[in-house]
Amino acid sequence: MTFIERAASAISRRRLMGWAAGGMAAGLLPLASRADDDESPSSTAPLALAATGIVGKRVVVVGGGMAGMTAAKYLRLWGGAGLKVALVEPDAVYTSNIMSNLVLNGSRTVASLRFRRDALTARYGVVRVPGSVAAIDPGARTVTLVDKTVLAYDRLVLAPGVTFDDAYGLTQADYDARTPHAWRAGRQTTLLREQLAGMHDGDTFVMTIPKAPYRCPPGPYERACVVADYLKKAKGPNCRVLVLDENPSIQAERHTFERAFTQIHAGVVRYVPGVSDIRIDATSRQVAYVDPLHVPQTVQAQVVNPIAPHRAAGSVPGGWLARAGLNNGVDGRWANVDVLSYEATALPGAGVHVIGDASSCGMPKAGHVANQEAKICADAIVRLFLNGQPDPQPVANSACYSPITSTTASWLTAVYQYDPVDRKMKVASDGGRTIVNGAPAAPTEAASINSDNFKNMGTWFRTLMGDTTA
Ligand SMILES: Cc1cc2nc3c(=O)[nH]c(=O)nc-3n(C[C@H](O)[C@H](O)[C@H](O)COP(=O)(O)OP(=O)(O)OC[C@H]3O[C@@H](n4cnc5c(N)ncnc54)[C@H](O)[C@@H]3O)c2cc1C
Repeated sequence: MTFIERAASAISRRRLMGWAAGGMAAGLLPLASRADDDESPSSTAPLALAATGIVGKRVVVVGGGMAGMTAAKYLRLWGGAGLKVALVEPDAVYTSNIMSNLVLNGSRTVASLRFRRDALTARYGVVRVPGSVAAIDPGARTVTLVDKTVLAYDRLVLAPGVTFDDAYGLTQADYDARTPHAWRAGRQTTLLREQLAGMHDGDTFVMTIPKAPYRCPPGPYERACVVADYLKKAKGPNCRVLVLDENPSIQAERHTFERAFTQIHAGVVRYVPGVSDIRIDATSRQVAYVDPLHVPQTVQAQVVNPIAPHRAAGSVPGGWLARAGLNNGVDGRWANVDVLSYEATALPGAGVHVIGDASSCGMPKAGHVANQEAKICADAIVRLFLNGQPDPQPVANSACYSPITSTTASWLTAVYQYDPVDRKMKVASDGGRTIVNGAPAAPTEAASINSDNFKNMGTWFRTLMGDTTA
């Protein structure tokens, strides 16, 4: 049974035509109307894809976020016209988490962070399949969607991002309505913005940081800075930002954030590392915790922002990723992968790859890194289809800008290389000198926090999102 025939057994003729037509699916599948001030690229002219020697191979990509969109695009670009790529994603429009902390001080809107996926379809001929994956059958090489559509594949790329625990005594309904984590940009981000706007001078904002690994290591500290800056300027000098970190210390850009907390936002931010047993009452907004000296503490907040512990989407016991046995990373939360190809170590030889935040690969869970993982994975899949082997020495880079106030920012970069002994990606360690063509090799933190960095942050963001979506 072919890819298309198998799809035909479960889905309508209209959608079958979309599969058969490849890039023409854009004309058949409904697309969301363009957001007023979205950042989507305007060029959707079809590209003439090369004949690479790959014929009739099918890749299903699950999840159209930073990792999935990049993988779908580059599989078509490098695999050529003979490689069919389907992208399964429930949401018509992608909302970027990157830059979403700037919604909290009112300098951006959630609408400005929306990106359409039109270019992937029209320009690169990726077939968009609206829906969510409910099950994987690695033996039969099929995925089943919630609406019972069955898709066959030669290789499967999973990029579903994360899902959030019911933690600290809160439920998903609490996060949605009263104590937003806003760690996936969207409605909760807008709610948190509204709650901040409703604060008064002298009020207290409490945020929590889960144990690593979590998505975007500098992100929580960046958020504390942006919120402190906003409260000082908009509400007065007496607001407080209490940061309760379950980690023993700041997890990224330590030099920058220590300076920000103790100098730039001194007297507003109070950073407490090594806390445990956090309990939050969503109604009264009272927060209880045990401090690093094991003393129970209670604080009355006006706004609470618990960044809930998270895990690969589908990895909860009984979830679709867990049922396939793919959650073999730390605490059953993430998928371990072979970082030469991002093939899941739980299913060797089954053609299942996991990229982005859902995977455990030795690099930080970040959008820039997800884009890099997707390219390494796409390159490996194309090589394997051509009977070759993945690149034995992959190199990836990470760049991250952190706003510290509404006009200034810091940054962090790192280069990762494959270590053939440990079979892991590791920060290149040559004492901070260079590895290739002058590229920095050790993690490098900005020497100062300034407005030039803030301007460059906008350029970096547009470039990254352009590479991912356009
Ligand atoms: C406040 C904040 C600030 C950040 N700032 C930065 C930054 O400055 N730099 C940086 O590099 N990173 C940053 N990040 C991290 C970055 O957003 C993530 O690391 C990145 O989005 C991960 O990409 P992903 O593709 O793995 O997941 P996502 O981008 O979350 O995409 C996952 C996609 O999978 C889809 N999906 C889920 N389940 C299913 C299913 N069953 N079937 C089909 N589709 C499914 C979802 O709808 C979603 O579209 C930040 C994150 C936050 C929260």
